Order: sequence, then structure tokens, then C-alpha cells
Amino acid sequence: EGRSIVFASGKGGTGKTTTVANLGVALAQFGKEVILIDADITMANLSLILGMEDIPITLHDVLAGEADIKDAIYEGPAGVKVIPGGLSLEKIKKAKPEKLRELIREISQMGDFIMIDAPAGLEITSVTALLIGKELIIVTNPEISAITDSLKTKLVAEKLGTLPLGAVLNRVTNEKTELTKEEIEAILEVPVLGIVPEDPEVKRASAYGVPLVIKNPTSPAAISIKQLAAKLAGIK
Ligand code: ADP
Ligand code: MG
Repeated sequence: EGRSIVFASGKGGTGKTTTVANLGVALAQFGKEVILIDADITMANLSLILGMEDIPITLHDVLAGEADIKDAIYEGPAGVKVIPGGLSLEKIKKAKPEKLRELIREISQMGDFIMIDAPAGLEITSVTALLIGKELIIVTNPEISAITDSLKTKLVAEKLGTLPLGAVLNRVTNEKTELTKEEIEAILEVPVLGIVPEDPEVKRASAYGVPLVIKNPTSPAAISIKQLAAKLAGIK
């Protein structure tokens, strides 16, 4: 059975989707079987960043019992598998909890890493995303407001029985106003697993619809994400 890891944050726009897409591709390049699930209903842009178009069947249809999970799995760059669409509140209500759990179990059999791109905040859809993964990686920016919101997300995840693995610090500029890695670890009480710098190549790659680790593998952010992928592949 593969590891299911949900990538969440308190604040929006911290870089969850960017991290999931590029980490997924990097893990696939390391020979891992990777399945990415877009669970962000309001901003389902994972497939956009991966440059995937023409997606007729999504997780919505599967949850509504209108399609088989196998029909909602698409092949992305570097062989990553992607389940697009996110979790519609309507369809979560319709779907029986047993069905959702069964679905995740089924998906877990299909890969080494099941990575869930969660919506920000602690609304019902975000909490549902936290429930889907067995493990949590917090994606945050190194600012106090983002960190305090991340702490809330971490505490909720723990209450739900999802294990917080650590945090990824994204868009790091090393300005004086940023909290340090040590300060962040002290507040969140989890290790910082990766530090990804602010890098203009991130936006350029997403405009191209090609993941950064493919488009510009030697850019600073790509190198950091690949290091994180190597670490993750080794973490037990
Ligand atoms: P989230 O999924 O958490 O809402 P995104 O991954 O969509 O966040 O990123 C939000 C914005 O920040 C996007 O425009 C993205 O291109 C940009 N971004 C993310 N990470 C970086 C980075 N390391 N350097 C520069 N821009 C970044
Ligand atoms: Mg996102």
C-alpha cells in the first residue's frame, strides 16, 4: 500500500499546488509510482500546472457514483497519474463515507505515493482533504500569519488522526522579517522538510503549463523540490 500524503496550509496561495505538482513529477523521475489528487474544489488548478487538458471525468463523478475511479485517472508528465476535479460538497454529501474511504483504499493500492492537493483553510472541503491522507505536509510561507494558520491546520489534522510529517517553507527570500527555520519548527512542532526559495521561474513554468522540474530543472526552486523528493522517498 502506498503512502497517502495531504498537502495543506492555513492561508491560501502558499504554494500547495506548485509543490504537489513538482514534487510528484520529481518522485516519478526517481522511479516512484505517483498519483496526484486535486482536492481543491474552488481552485482546481493542479491539472493546469501540469499542462493537462481535456478532462471529461473527475473525482466528482466518481464520488457521485457516476463513474469508475479508473476512468478519472489521467496520465501526466513523467508518468505521474492525476485524478483531477476536487471534491464537490454536494457530491461528498451524496457519497457514503464508506465509499470515500473505500475509494482511497483502492487508490492507495495503485501507487507508492498518493499526494493530495488540499484547499486552504478549515472549511468542510479542507477538513475532508485532511481526512483522505494518512500523513500531512504543511506548505507555508515563512511569515508569522501563515505559520499561525498552519498551526491550526496541523492541530485539526492531528485530531483527525492524520500524522503531521513536517513543513515545507515556500517562497523563502531570507529577508529579516521572515521567521527562521528553527523558529518555525518551534512553533509548529514538526521538522522543516524543505526550503524552497522565491523563484520567478515558478510562474514562468506554470504559464507554459510545464512543471518547473521539467521546464527548468536547474532553477533554485526546482533543485530544492528535487532535494525534498529525494528525502521523502527515503523517509519511512
Ligand atoms: P496554493 O495551491 O497554495 O494556493 P499555488 O501553488 O497555486 O498556491 O501558488 C500560488 C502562486 O504563487 C502562484 O502564482 C505560483 O506561481 C506562485 N509561487 C508558488 N511558489 C513559488 C515560488 N517558490 N517562487 C515564486 N512563486 C511561487
Ligand atoms: Mg492550490
